[in-house]
Amino acid sequence: MAGHNFLFVPGPSNVPNRILRAMAVPMEDHRSVKFPALTQEILAGLKRVFKTESAAPIVFPSSGTGCWEAALTNCLNPGDQILASRFGQFSHLWCDMGRRLGFDMNIIEVEWGEGAPVEGYRSALAADVQHQIKAVLVCQNETATGVTSDILAIRQVLEDLGHPALLFVDSVSALGSIDFRMDEWKVDICVAGSQKGLMLPAGMGITCVSQKALQAAQNSRHPRCYFDYLDMVKSNGTGYFPYTPSIPMLYGLREALVMLEEEGLENVFARHHYLAEGVRAAVTQGWKLSLCAKAPQWYSDSVSAIVVPAGFNAAEVIERAYRRYNLALGAGLSKVAGKVFRIGHLGDLNEVMLMGAIAGAEMAMLDCGIPVTPGSGVAAATQFWCTHEAPVGLGA
Ligand code: PLP
Repeated sequence: MAGHNFLFVPGPSNVPNRILRAMAVPMEDHRSVKFPALTQEILAGLKRVFKTESAAPIVFPSSGTGCWEAALTNCLNPGDQILASRFGQFSHLWCDMGRRLGFDMNIIEVEWGEGAPVEGYRSALAADVQHQIKAVLVCQNETATGVTSDILAIRQVLEDLGHPALLFVDSVSALGSIDFRMDEWKVDICVAGSQKGLMLPAGMGITCVSQKALQAAQNSRHPRCYFDYLDMVKSNGTGYFPYTPSIPMLYGLREALVMLEEEGLENVFARHHYLAEGVRAAVTQGWKLSLCAKAPQWYSDSVSAIVVPAGFNAAEVIERAYRRYNLALGAGLSKVAGKVFRIGHLGDLNEVMLMGAIAGAEMAMLDCGIPVTPGSGVAAATQFWCTHEAPVGLGA
């Protein structure tokens, strides 16, 4: 097929050429005297991305899912109670993992399209006077529905109640795209991955662990080995890894961290917001369709899930976009399969790249008989971007 593929799934995101080049390195001895400098530079850079002074970033050869498992198995004991909420496929999968690992899951069910239920957490934690709940799980950015939740509000609930549970946050599709503050929000474990805001291929689970969580790991009897935080922290402390790390991924990560810092993290977040607003203008003002996210407070700046009108199948739009226009849109998952398609707007992106996704989605919808006005999405996004000041990461 002529032309290149347009990758607009919400991860993996486009890997910039700079990172691809940084990854094209010969293999080297990961036990050499020179190696610790690389590890230390990366861990220091990650601390700035997680916005932490005291917590320990850890990179596992894994993906976000491996870091979910590490969080649960390192800091808890078999059968411990966990409080979580389920409002999309990824919050569901973490809950399901907790159940399969033998934890006692207390799950607050929330309508898909809404975010983490702050008052639901408050009543469940207030009722737990014996402090049996040992960990609270929250998905910061539910990638399946395009919903961002307020992590600080959940932290505030724990503070208000003086509840000592650990706070575990899934920031897989937020870190590096949407603000995350490990120390300020007193997050105990943040789970992320390489293939989204960090602009790398999949293959690296990136996580960050507070001192309180490391203390809990000392007291945890849950079986684990490869994903043991304490082994990692001890080894990383000397600049090495307890296993053979992926050299290209480490060089790629180093370059990604440099790129984020060159643009400035706050500018990166501002760019994601600005680009997301253009997509939302295309969806709601141009196409006159709805987002799966039910209210603006939950709109995600890294992914939009777009609801197709009743009687149409979003899976057909995705297939048409892929086969005919070489455009990869994100699928509707589980409960929203066939009902939504998703545009990922995270990582190394600008307006013109996103115009490709908007125009391609528009043509695919028209081909599938969805009555959107030709050019309307592109027009609404143009109108937004041409009447608002662009953040510094975009051209001047
Ligand atoms: N959590 C969220 C919010 C995600 O979007 C994903 C993947 O898309 C995961 C967890 C799982 O991460 P991975 O696919 O890297 O294992």
